[in-house]
Amino acid sequence: MELIRHFAAGVERCVVIEEGDPVLLDSIRAAGIEAEGKQEMYRFGELNVARVRRILAGDTSPEPVPPKGKPPELCQGCSHRDVFEVLRDLDCIVSGDIGCYTLGVLPPFNGMDTCVCMGASVGVGLRHVLPPEQAKRVVSVIGDSTFVHSGITGIAGPTGGSAEKPVGLVHWAVAGPGGVQSRHRVFLGDRAIVREWSLNAALDLLRRELMC
Ligand code: SF4
Repeated sequence: MELIRHFAAGVERCVVIEEGDPVLLDSIRAAGIEAEGKQEMYRFGELNVARVRRILAGDTSPEPVPPKGKPPELCQGCSHRDVFEVLRDLDCIVSGDIGCYTLGVLPPFNGMDTCVCMGASVGVGLRHVLPPEQAKRVVSVIGDSTFVHSGITGIAGPTGGSAEKPVGLVHWAVAGPGGVQSRHRVFLGDRAIVREWSLNAALDLLRRELMC
């Protein structure tokens, strides 16, 4: 605060322009330093160069209406688009999660049926509450970081695996000019062993693909 006091004493006009509430301004004034804030109409919304200019000039005339935006969507060319096309075309029931792939809920995919919170898609799953025919159509989508962060508890804990999803079940795949090859297997052992065997199996599949 002494630095600010020293600065304010050396200028003709000290203006504090901060986005949102005047937190800094109130503290500075409470310390007995004279400072101007922004006009009330600029308390909301983002700051930009034009708005800062208006604040400095004390301009409180109505602001120009911003150009109309377009609805958000998954980026063109994003591989998530292919996934949501397939989920839509197969009429899957999609348990969603938080990430840019949440945009799969919007047209043209309309491909997400639930979205609760980060990590919930696997746990929500819906498979255990829906009739078997509908349960077969359920797919959970989740980003890799979110999966490791909290989504994995929907599979691994707290009571461990099930007959359908035993602990140690690993799927791996490789895509090449000849198509996609996928494998799965249940590796027995602790986490380190499962990780090592998974890595070996994935590298072996990749080696075979490259030798073809
Ligand atoms: S992952 Fe997200 S940010 Fe990246 S291309 Fe896809 S939609 Fe865009």
